[in-house]
Amino acid sequence: MYSELNTSNRILMGPGPSDAHPRVLKAMSTPLIGHLDPQFVTIMDEVKTMVQDTFITKNHLSFVVSAPGSAGMETCLVNLLEPGDDVIICINGVFGGRMADIAERCGAIVHKVEVAWGTVISPEDIRKVLDKCPKPKLLALVHAETSTGALQPIKEISDLIHNAGGLLMVDAVTSYCGVELRVDDWGIDAIYTGTQKCLSAPPGLSPVSFSDRAVKVLENRKTKVQSWFLDLSLVKNYWGGEKRAYHHTAPVSSIYALRESLRIVLEEGLENRWKRHQRVHEVLKTKLEKLGFRYLVEEQYRLPNLNSVFLPDGNDENVIRSILLNDYNIEVGGGLGAFSGKIWRIGIMGESCTFNHVNMLISALEDMKE
Ligand code: PLP
Repeated sequence: MYSELNTSNRILMGPGPSDAHPRVLKAMSTPLIGHLDPQFVTIMDEVKTMVQDTFITKNHLSFVVSAPGSAGMETCLVNLLEPGDDVIICINGVFGGRMADIAERCGAIVHKVEVAWGTVISPEDIRKVLDKCPKPKLLALVHAETSTGALQPIKEISDLIHNAGGLLMVDAVTSYCGVELRVDDWGIDAIYTGTQKCLSAPPGLSPVSFSDRAVKVLENRKTKVQSWFLDLSLVKNYWGGEKRAYHHTAPVSSIYALRESLRIVLEEGLENRWKRHQRVHEVLKTKLEKLGFRYLVEEQYRLPNLNSVFLPDGNDENVIRSILLNDYNIEVGGGLGAFSGKIWRIGIMGESCTFNHVNMLISALEDMKE
């Protein structure tokens, strides 16, 4: 026999998911309706418009992939790349590496720009790779590298790739609704995100958007997209077009939750939300540094919402992280890859980005020192 589901009431301050607003949890418990019910079609239309608003884009092809952020990443790459295409992938952490892996599986010729984890890619790095690969189809980068807490500047690199005739693809999983992100102004051609970070919705969905330039590339493909589920030429009719056609069964309850979380973001206002993340970060930073934590990333490239820090000397990060979880119900993230066992990743995202959250974490840490 299995017991009734009964999880602890955690305070989520890791790299995601973040705490969800009660309104979002309530929306999830709304009774199910059919995914082709006219009422649900209206909900999909509203979600699509709110996705455009939060990406700050007029892109017609904006919708939500029914799967997590990694599926958004895969959607962009499998649709835009064909075997033999040259692609530039910027790698400064785990997620750039994942993009390179997917691009290789698409049969593309991958030109990697790799820099040390915790740093960002410079325009000079891009000029150098363009000397060797002058006509790439696409350049892909991670706006907010969750494995390190680095925030990648985009605008100058966008100009470089467009001057070379290529498309710009951006991973905005951790930046979306937490730091400044302007799809149209920055010339982003393909973008994907996740719902479980600064949007504070449950994980499992991936809003995406494609510029008209990217749509032209899709229309001129010579080969079939190797993934049926992610093929935009099929799924786009489900989210738009003259007549809605069945493609798959949308995760109705998750879309309810996403709709509510987008409403909350737009009520607050994007710019206010970006400012809130910065303000709470400043307070967290001061308090962490007082306790002897050191930041991994140089100040000017630091993500406010994902704080990667070395612990004060002599502390076993794994032991302290377990005490925080088990005795204080607070989740923070450990390091990934090269930083495994070395750093913490403290998320202050969306609903988890409050002075209360900072105070709860700092009090717990002070308490443990005593
Ligand atoms: N890209 C970045 C920057 C991420 O942080 C993550 C997840 O943490 C992903 C992609 C993959 O998203 P998901 O875990 O929802 O598949």
